[in-house]
Amino acid sequence: MSPSETLKQIAEDIYQVKLPLPFALRIVNCYLLRGDSGWTIIDTGLHTENGEAVWRQTLAALGIQPGDLSAIVVTHHHPDHYGMAGWLRAWNEVETPIYTSARERDMIAQVWWQVDGVSKDFAALMRAAGVDEAMLAGMLRVGAEIGAQTAPHPPRLDVLTAGERISLGAREFRILNGPGHSVGQLLLYDESARLIFCADHVLAKITPNVGIWPGSDANPLASFLDSLQSLSDLPVDLALPGHRSLIEDWPGRIAELQRHHDERLSQMRDAAGDGATALQIAGVVFNFDHFSTHEQRFAVAETLAHLEYLRQQGAIERHGDDVWIFRRC
Ligand SMILES: [Zn+2]
Repeated sequence: MSPSETLKQIAEDIYQVKLPLPFALRIVNCYLLRGDSGWTIIDTGLHTENGEAVWRQTLAALGIQPGDLSAIVVTHHHPDHYGMAGWLRAWNEVETPIYTSARERDMIAQVWWQVDGVSKDFAALMRAAGVDEAMLAGMLRVGAEIGAQTAPHPPRLDVLTAGERISLGAREFRILNGPGHSVGQLLLYDESARLIFCADHVLAKITPNVGIWPGSDANPLASFLDSLQSLSDLPVDLALPGHRSLIEDWPGRIAELQRHHDERLSQMRDAAGDGATALQIAGVVFNFDHFSTHEQRFAVAETLAHLEYLRQQGAIERHGDDVWIFRRC
């Protein structure tokens, strides 16, 4: 891919970089902000050979030299956002702050620095969802392959806290929390320009994955929907998301996401019927058999999040310890 395909100027001081992903999502959007005291990178891509090639081309095309990066922001711990933070930090040669939230820093440490502990929790969760050993082995293998694409890890991570203000590039941002897709996900809001870097909180055309994973909050769909509701009247003319196209109709897209989850909740409740595992329900609601193992993990986690939301509402019950059976109330 040449820079003309991967690099796009969004504003005088903002560039979007499309980093390739070796799975269905295909591309993660990263951003570069130009400022007098250096460049800021927002999200970094999965660490692959192609990812390195795109960053090298991009940095060269913009005349950015080692030492010119003044900050890196990782909106959340997912490998396509965090994966090249350590590589970019090393490329920059000098001490560079890498910002994320305290919760996401903990997730990065748990998920990518001590993979074995999380695999055990993930396996227990998937077994409870009804996943058999053969499917689980595939899921664990895919997880380990992706985990390897987050190295090298940076020497340290610095913390940004919701409510805090920070100057990055030539702009001042208010830090917001966007939970659901990932519990401590950071959003960067430039109030004066009515512009937001919204990570994977609000996406165009695809719905952000909201799932139960080891370390996620207990009812992530409730956190997500509450957060969307409170952000829907934020003055935003342009949202720059982690995947797919830019979003101009912020409240309109939020309303579509809210409707999508209302529909999906009622589908899940119907699919639970007189008793079904999360895997069986995922098989009814999603095109599950056509999914890759990577996508199947997300579908099961997403199903669990909807079922937990319904359970907290009293719309379904859950029975069983080793394998959970969900039933409509
Ligand atoms: Zn993500």
